[in-house]
Amino acid sequence: MTTPHPDRSLALRGVDGPAWSPDGKWFAYIFDGRLWRVPVTPEGAIAGAPIRMTDELADALNWASDSQSILYLGVDRLKRIDLTGKVADAHPHLAYTPEISSERIVIHAGRLIDVVSGTSQRDMDIVIDGNLITSIEPHRAREDGARVIDASGQSIIPGLIEPHTHMTSNFGERLGRIWLAMGVTAVREPGADPYDALERREAWVSGRRLGPRGFMTGGLTDGSRVFYGFANSVTTPEHLDLELERARWLDYDLIKTYVRMPDHVQKTIVARAHQIGIPVSSHEIFPAVGYGVDAVEHLRGTSRRGYSPKQTEMGFSYADVTDLLAKSGMTITPTMGLSGGFNLKVLRDPAILAHPVYTALFRDAERAALKAGVDRVRQTEPSLARSVDAMGLAITDIIKKGGRITAGTDSPFIPYGLSFLVELMLYEDAGLSPADVLRSATIWPAAVLGVDKHLGTIEPGKLADLVIVDGDPLARISDLAKVHAVVSNGRYLPRADLMME
Ligand SMILES: [Zn+2]
Repeated sequence: MTTPHPDRSLALRGVDGPAWSPDGKWFAYIFDGRLWRVPVTPEGAIAGAPIRMTDELADALNWASDSQSILYLGVDRLKRIDLTGKVADAHPHLAYTPEISSERIVIHAGRLIDVVSGTSQRDMDIVIDGNLITSIEPHRAREDGARVIDASGQSIIPGLIEPHTHMTSNFGERLGRIWLAMGVTAVREPGADPYDALERREAWVSGRRLGPRGFMTGGLTDGSRVFYGFANSVTTPEHLDLELERARWLDYDLIKTYVRMPDHVQKTIVARAHQIGIPVSSHEIFPAVGYGVDAVEHLRGTSRRGYSPKQTEMGFSYADVTDLLAKSGMTITPTMGLSGGFNLKVLRDPAILAHPVYTALFRDAERAALKAGVDRVRQTEPSLARSVDAMGLAITDIIKKGGRITAGTDSPFIPYGLSFLVELMLYEDAGLSPADVLRSATIWPAAVLGVDKHLGTIEPGKLADLVIVDGDPLARISDLAKVHAVVSNGRYLPRADLMME
C-alpha cells in the first residue's frame, strides 16, 4: 500500500498504524510520532492535503464506526479526537499502588556473601521489615514474633539483575515466575513496546502478577530504516523532543539508541537523557565513549558501519576496545551466550537442559526447538569454540584492566532465565573469579541503572532482594542453578511455589 503522505523519504521513515475510516473518506496514520489524516477518493487516491491531528505522540489509532472520531493512545492516556480537533479523555487515568509486605522476616544465613569484597560471613541474621533490609547481625534465638527462615545450610547472595532481555506479554504470566525461580529479582529491558513494558513493570510492582523489578525503556530509539518492530524511527528534532517527553511521562529507566541513529543525534540524546537523569546505552563504542554513553550492548552486535567496531572477524577484541571500556568506566554487556556461547555450552553439557525451572515452565515445543538448534551447531563446534574463547579473552582483559561488564543475554533469542545462568557459567569458564561473575550480575548492573544505593548488595537500608541457594556460588558459579528461594521486595518465595503451572 502506498501511504499518502507527500514526503519524499516517507518509505524510509516510520509510518505506523495506517487505517481507512469506515466510510472510506479518510486515511489515518502515525507519522513522526503524531496522528495524521488525509482525504481519499472512493478509489483510494489522495484527494487533498494531509492534516496533522495531534501535537503529541499518538499510538494505537482506531476509527469510531461513524468515522467522526479516532480513539488513540496519547503519551500516557487513551483519548478520542473528532474531525474538528476536539480531544477528550476516553478513560479515567488508571492508577496502581506498589505492593509492600508489612511482615518482619529474619533470614538465618549459613553463608552471607558480600559481592563487593568477594568474601562471606557464617551464621548471620538478615532482618527484613517490609521491603527493606533493616539490620544484619550475628545469628541469635528470637522471641519477637518475627518469621524466621532457616537458611543455615545455604548461601545468600543479592538478587540477580539480568540487564539485557526483551519481553512481550505474549509469553504470559509464567515469565515473571521464571525470573524469580532463577534468582533474578530485577531485569533491565533495553527495547520493547513502551506500553507493553509499562504494563509489565506496573503489574509486577503492584503484585498483580508475580515478577521481578522491571527497568524499562520504550522502543529502540533509532534513525531511518528500522529493523525491529519495537524500534522507533526518529528523524526530526521535534519528534526527538516528543520522545524524550514520553520518557519522562512514562518514567523510563534508560534510553537505548540503535544502529541507524547518526552520531551527532546520539550525542544530543545522551546530553538530553542525562538532563532528565537517565542513562543511555547503544551498540556503539567510538565515538560514543567521547560523548558519555553509559553502556554498550554486545561484544559483537549489529553495526551500520560495515564492520564490527568491537571485534575482528575471528572474534578477538584488542586494546582499542578493552582500554576504552576499562578507562572510560563505560560498561559492556558482552552477550557471550548470544554469540554462540549458549549453544556451545549446552552442546558440551546437555544436562543444563534438565534444569527444573526450564523443564517446568517452558513448553515441550519450545524445548524441542531449542534442542534442535543446539544440535545443528555440532558441525561447526571447533570454529564456534575458537570465537567463544576469543570473547572470553576480551572479557577477562576488560576486568583485569579494571573495567566492568554486565551479564545480559538478549533473551528470548536464547531462553529467559536459563540463558542468564549459562552466561554466568561462560564467564567462569573464561577465567573470571566467581566474585567477579557475581558482581557482573548484581552490583555492576545496579550501578549502570543508577540504583546501586538501593540494590546490588545485601546491606541495611537497601531493598530486600536476595537469593537463597544451596551450595556456595563464591566457590562455584554453577551452584546458582540450585536456587532454593528468593526474597523479592521483601516477599519470601520458595522456588517450588514459583514453578507450579
Ligand atoms: Zn537486545
